[in-house]
Amino acid sequence: MNIDGKTRTLGVIGNPIEHTVSPVIHNNLANITGDNFCYLPFKVEESNVKAAIEGAYALGILGLNVTVPHKSAVIPYLKDIDPLAKRIGAVNTLVSCDGGYKGYNTDMPGLLRAMRSDGIEVKDKEVIVLGAGGVARAVAILLSDSGAKHIYILNRTISKAKAIADEIIKDKGEIVTAMELSDYSKLSGNDYICIQATNVGMYPNTDCAVIDDNAFYDKITKGYDIVYNPLETKFMKLCKEASAESFHGLKMLLYQGIIAYEYWSGKSISDDDALKVYAKMLESMGKT
Ligand code: NAP
Repeated sequence: MNIDGKTRTLGVIGNPIEHTVSPVIHNNLANITGDNFCYLPFKVEESNVKAAIEGAYALGILGLNVTVPHKSAVIPYLKDIDPLAKRIGAVNTLVSCDGGYKGYNTDMPGLLRAMRSDGIEVKDKEVIVLGAGGVARAVAILLSDSGAKHIYILNRTISKAKAIADEIIKDKGEIVTAMELSDYSKLSGNDYICIQATNVGMYPNTDCAVIDDNAFYDKITKGYDIVYNPLETKFMKLCKEASAESFHGLKMLLYQGIIAYEYWSGKSISDDDALKVYAKMLESMGKT
């Protein structure tokens, strides 16, 4: 990387930020494409979100990623917001525009692109979503937009699952069912795609899964965990034991970054180049 007077700065704001893999994604992409970009992590306290965005714009920062806990907090300080990000209520990418930043959500298109790259197609499929937090809500919206046949949202707190289901039903009809986590035995059939969208099983609590019963995993043919630390979660192990294919969330992280980079650079990143960056991510995590 040759930093000179023409280098454009990119970065990520969040708190904490020390664990971020995003600099590996974007600095490698800049290397591959030859763009004169430099991507840095910025720790931003909750009380400084407005100042950080205004300051970034004043400094001419080309674009920012936004991570936990600022994905909703940034919205009031944007010049413009993409309709999908507005509907999801969370922004993870800021792109410099006239007078400020425009906010996008690339997490969900990233998940879809990751699933496609892993050969998973949700159209006309019955899909189980585990969880009803911010990510699960966005996943359920994405599934309803992508032609899933039926979506079952299973959550510990049923009221949160119902709120998401009601919101989607208003728009798309009766294609969603909200259920208690413990009601999985009521699901008939054995060809479900299951998306694990809770933080259960994430490091350091790696020996947990939201559902432990093997009978649940017998219903699943493909299990997708959005958690990527560890790269093999308990959920994935249980899927494998039931002969279901299982995937971790690192490719979702890769593709949310690829889509953000495409906004910033105006270039399309090929799958071959995406996979080169993926290898660098694994290397940075000591997983080669
Ligand atoms: P959130 O809003 O806090 O929601 C957490 C969800 O987990 C809720 O449904 C909660 O159930 C459930 N949960 C938590 N502890 C549980 C337990 N012990 N038993 C059963 N359910 C439990 O979190 P979020 O923002 O949706 O984020 C979820 C995960 O997505 C995080 O781990 C994050 O790292 C990951 N993520 C990954 C990517 C990627 O690129 N791969 C991108 C974004 C986020 P209740 O409603 O009952 O509390």
